[in-house]
Amino acid sequence: MIQTNWHTHTKRCGHAKGEDHEYVEAAIQAGFKTLGFSDHVPYPIPEEHVRMDYFEYEGYISSIRSLKQKYKDQIDIYVGMEVECFLDQWETLSFFRKELDYLILGQHNLAYHGKDIYNVETPEELLRYCELIETACQHALCDYICHPDVCMWSYPQIDGTVKEIANRIADISLRYNMPVELNCGSGVRYPMKEYEDGFRYAYPTRAFFEVFAEKKCPVVIGLDIHDPKLFLTDDLLNRALSVVEGLDLNFLYDYDLVSAAKERKKLFY
Ligand SMILES: [Zn+2]
Ligand SMILES: [Zn+2]
Repeated sequence: MIQTNWHTHTKRCGHAKGEDHEYVEAAIQAGFKTLGFSDHVPYPIPEEHVRMDYFEYEGYISSIRSLKQKYKDQIDIYVGMEVECFLDQWETLSFFRKELDYLILGQHNLAYHGKDIYNVETPEELLRYCELIETACQHALCDYICHPDVCMWSYPQIDGTVKEIANRIADISLRYNMPVELNCGSGVRYPMKEYEDGFRYAYPTRAFFEVFAEKKCPVVIGLDIHDPKLFLTDDLLNRALSVVEGLDLNFLYDYDLVSAAKERKKLFY
């Protein structure tokens, strides 16, 4: 159904499996035309099972670039990373912003080594999350916002603050022409969970996408692949799509993220 995926990990992050070439071969087999690798960025302090180590960076780049050459007649391959907005890590982030084809923003913590996004439970934390997204977009750090609703993993219910940040993220997306992602990763890999106001997947969260539909925000589908064989099934994609069923979303199919990144890099500071 889709032929482009910008959100692909490798085993270097410690929580993905398979060899780099297996991701490429599975994507080709599934009919993909464009494949972007976006493994979790390394920061100075190693985090096992979360992100690649610095020393793995050169191998990451050389492996993906050689696969790009090897399979150039079958698929377009690009190399990026999934980053967080941490102002105290700006030197590291600036380096990768300049080096790589593109960056996507997956804000997994509220500060470097700070509160995990999967444990966010208060309105203040939701607002802090939203501020970090805004800062990243202001600085043109990233080329799309991954799982903008990942903050809902532990958040007890869809309340006024959730609606407020959904609106704010939609406005940020429009102001900076920054796509938001409909993510098909961990949020739908597990069954729906019971929250205070009913059952839902941890994310994607319909309340966010209602606002994105209403405001006509650009939306990109991201498979967030951590296992090559997931290219060969539409199950998780269909689950994510079921969350937003009936909404008139402004999907950007085959979005040229790399050309957009070239323009955004000029605005990066
Ligand atoms: Zn991951
Ligand atoms: Zn990811």
